[in-house]
Amino acid sequence: MLDRYLKPDFILGTYSEVTPEFCREHGITALICDIDNTLVTYDDPVPTEPVLAWYRKLKAAGIPISFVSNNEPERVFTFAAPLGVPAFPKCGKPSRRGVRAAMEAMESSPDGTVFLGDQLLTDVMSAKRSGIRAIVVPPIKDKKTLLFRAKRAIERPFMKKYMTEVCGGVSRG
Ligand SMILES: [Mg+2]
Repeated sequence: MLDRYLKPDFILGTYSEVTPEFCREHGITALICDIDNTLVTYDDPVPTEPVLAWYRKLKAAGIPISFVSNNEPERVFTFAAPLGVPAFPKCGKPSRRGVRAAMEAMESSPDGTVFLGDQLLTDVMSAKRSGIRAIVVPPIKDKKTLLFRAKRAIERPFMKKYMTEVCGGVSRG
């Protein structure tokens, strides 16, 4: 029953596996992206060179990106500024709010839009509640707080199950 909200459509090893070719193959025309632990660590205020290179390739292929984050406006806008893409802080994922705003900003359709994130309970759930597909990648570097460890502990059995069920089930920690 929870699968409806937590099961990603794809599990990949890293964000950079979302290439223009991957998008074409799977009918992906727009990307909603989590920032923290999906693209960079909490310690990277702006996109790293590999993230910039990845973004340029998608942009050249005509695939728009926007950021949907639960983090603070300063963090999210600072990160998004070099790319000049729509960015939505404090989205309260698993709320649908950020997904809705991002799709509006990109003028994308639910069937072409995919959410790329690292957490089942926030990223995947907000995607699934919004009726769009979701890609999960392993967290780059988890925070060590109790809340984070608890969230991961809740996710773990689901993730284990999905690794065997979901297309592209590879290399998650
Ligand atoms: Mg994250």
